[in-house]
Amino acid sequence: MKNIQIILNAILSQDVFEYILVDRRYRITDFSENVSRYFDEATQGGNDIRHYLPEIVGYEEEIQTVLEKGNNRYVLETVYKNNYYINIILEYYSEEKVLILLHNTTEITLSKLELLQYSNENQLLYNTIKKILDSQNNLLLVTSNNKIEYANRKFLEYFSIKNLDELKERREKNFSISSLPVKSFNELYAYAKDEEKELMIGEDTFLVKATMLETTYQLFTFSKVTKLSEANQSLEEKINRDPLTGLYRKSFFDEKLAEALEYEQTVTLVIADIDNFKTVNDHYGHLAGDSVLREFADLIKNQLRENDIFARWGGEEFLILFNCSKQEKIVEKIETIRKMVETHSFETVGALTVSFGVATSRENETVQSLLERADRALYFAKTNGKNMVVVK
Ligand code: GH3
Ligand code: MG
Ligand code: MG
Repeated sequence: MKNIQIILNAILSQDVFEYILVDRRYRITDFSENVSRYFDEATQGGNDIRHYLPEIVGYEEEIQTVLEKGNNRYVLETVYKNNYYINIILEYYSEEKVLILLHNTTEITLSKLELLQYSNENQLLYNTIKKILDSQNNLLLVTSNNKIEYANRKFLEYFSIKNLDELKERREKNFSISSLPVKSFNELYAYAKDEEKELMIGEDTFLVKATMLETTYQLFTFSKVTKLSEANQSLEEKINRDPLTGLYRKSFFDEKLAEALEYEQTVTLVIADIDNFKTVNDHYGHLAGDSVLREFADLIKNQLRENDIFARWGGEEFLILFNCSKQEKIVEKIETIRKMVETHSFETVGALTVSFGVATSRENETVQSLLERADRALYFAKTNGKNMVVVK
């Protein structure tokens, strides 16, 4: 990005003019030294300006008017030729002659273009910063001279404000006094600039931190203080859940499986693997693939009981742990689920099938050995036509 000062200097730099004198019959009678740089290479001879500067063609009437009236001046549109941007100006010179001024605006025009680009980049930067602010979970506020410049999405949501304009309007009507327990943002800045400070807003406790951005902007970060019990719960949830499907993660599943085996419970492990899932991604894209995974997870979850542990192993592979010793019952259930998936029409992609590998724990079973057995069962299903339930 060019320094704005350089651009401004270029704009303010000295103008460069060349001139041509023509008579009422458009013949060149005099010209300045470097004027030929703007000329076309004339194929016809003579000294008619229109051969060298065809841009004049169509302005004959204007030239006659300048000659007649004596004080008219015409500025033609900027033209681009021979790598120059030039303004062409027709001016009265004498009763017999018109002065054609060629104003080289290349520097200016390029600078203007660059300036435009500069402001586009600024816009880009501005939009990027806005996006970053909006993606944050904290309430963020940017102020300048005690006035709100920007508030992120969370901030607006928290105060039930539709958009930034509404917030600015409210601010005029003392938004700060009614909603924030401070008289001014400068006061808030002084309060929270050195370290995070507590601040009550309504019933909620926030930690507020003030940061100076550049020399004129102040950024306020309000992070809501969550009660410890809530925080622990949500943290545990976050750690154990797969973000795409909301199902348990493999690690959590393994823990539960290990626990069950340790207490010598008989459990049945099921691995489900969607058939030919790669073609879903290939045909409909990864996003459609993701939504199929969610839909699939919901479909199966609805068939399970609360004690059954349902997890996503990764990709399009899922695990179910049944705390139940009656294998036949479980196989029956899985068979029902298989049929249900087979007849279900998934959004966007339509029909899909799924293969299952089932294994029930034996004596001295380990997580590893049980998983291996179920995996072998699944492999058998995959190599024997898919869309089936295999028990090992
Ligand atoms: P098979 O019937 O043998 O199981 O074939 P498949 O295509 O289902 O199995 P394969 O293991 O060859 O490919 C699984 C594909 O799942 C590969 C990958 O593109 C896709 N996949 C893995 N994780 C995700 C995910 O999180 N989202 C999406 N959309 N696709 C995923
Ligand atoms: Mg797979
Ligand atoms: Mg698969």
